[in-house]
Amino acid sequence: MSNCDVSEKLFTIRYKCDDKSHLVIKETDTCLKCATKDCNFFCPSDVYEWEKKLKITTVAYENCIECGTCRIACPSDNIDWVYPKGGHGITYKFG
Ligand code: SF4
Ligand code: SF4
Repeated sequence: MSNCDVSEKLFTIRYKCDDKSHLVIKETDTCLKCATKDCNFFCPSDVYEWEKKLKITTVAYENCIECGTCRIACPSDNIDWVYPKGGHGITYKFG
């Protein structure tokens, strides 16, 4: 078994959270109509989760490791993505 899985890699990074999300869902209706909810699967940090009761995609932006996948992987281009503002976001401890 590999000892290089993502959950272990996540211990090698440090976050400084902004109080404002750098990831914004553009249209909640688009998520409602999205059958595949791809963002619930492609994000390595599980930032996006479909909240069935509220019928919205929740965004745990403080867990984002800034890999950039969601800029291109949402089939409806429904995620607004910018880098966290200066001094916030991720710091890699190694490498
Ligand atoms: S993949 Fe895009 S459209 Fe679908 S639920 Fe996620 S953010 Fe919404
Ligand atoms: S940039 Fe990467 S880690 Fe951050 S929310 Fe998008 S897919 Fe997840």
